[in-house]
Amino acid sequence: ATRQLVMSEKLAAIGEITAGIAHEINNPIAVMQGNLEVIRDLMGKNAEKAGTEFRLIDEQMHRITEIVTKLLQFAKPQEYAGYSEHYAVAGIISDTLPLVQHLLRKTAIAVEREDRALRPIMMNRTELQQVLVNLIVNAIHAMSQGGRLALRTFDSDMDGRPGVAIAVADTGTGMTPDVIGKIFDPFFTTKTREGTGLGLSISQMLVTRQGGKISVRSEPGRGTTFTIWMPEADEGA
Ligand code: ADP
Repeated sequence: ATRQLVMSEKLAAIGEITAGIAHEINNPIAVMQGNLEVIRDLMGKNAEKAGTEFRLIDEQMHRITEIVTKLLQFAKPQEYAGYSEHYAVAGIISDTLPLVQHLLRKTAIAVEREDRALRPIMMNRTELQQVLVNLIVNAIHAMSQGGRLALRTFDSDMDGRPGVAIAVADTGTGMTPDVIGKIFDPFFTTKTREGTGLGLSISQMLVTRQGGKISVRSEPGRGTTFTIWMPEADEGA
């Protein structure tokens, strides 16, 4: 219990510092983005020649903004909590796939889908989509040589409670038990370039906050399945 207390104090401290730094980074980025627009205007026609350079700078700034947003969300989760909505899960795959289409287009990944969940749940729709995007992007990263991505939703009971399951399965690298033990820790990442190590810890926070669970099954060399389970929302909620 003491160890847990120290850990949560540490996390709270990290949260405060992170939120502070993230805010400080956001301001100069916004200024630079404005400057970039001005330069582009000043250059007029010549801006087209510098098109690639502009795009690269845009992309990198976008990436920093994304990291900062994640950090803030992780550090101050209450402030970033969306209001809960009551809705049937059916259709969530169709709503989410367009958000990752640009990544899927670049890869040799076949997408299989089965959307059978009918029960309603209580969660912010955007947050659920964000969790799914995190899981799908991880799956894509794990299949750099191509593979199969299966997205499934179905009604499912857990410990006798009715609910809904959403499974994201890949045929990628898989994980060793050692890695699996750490994936939900904030800042744990095995990625050298793209990783923040926050995707899964934020996802877990968003799901458990609504009474749900995230579980994982993985085998090195064979692939990984993440399953989100959410309790069915009460009638008339
Ligand atoms: P990030 O993606 O920024 O590293 P995450 O919290 O989303 O942060 O994931 C943490 C780590 O979990 C990843 O670096 C990777 O090692 C592992 N991981 C997550 N999803 C998968 C997957 N589908 N296949 C293999 N490894 C995964």
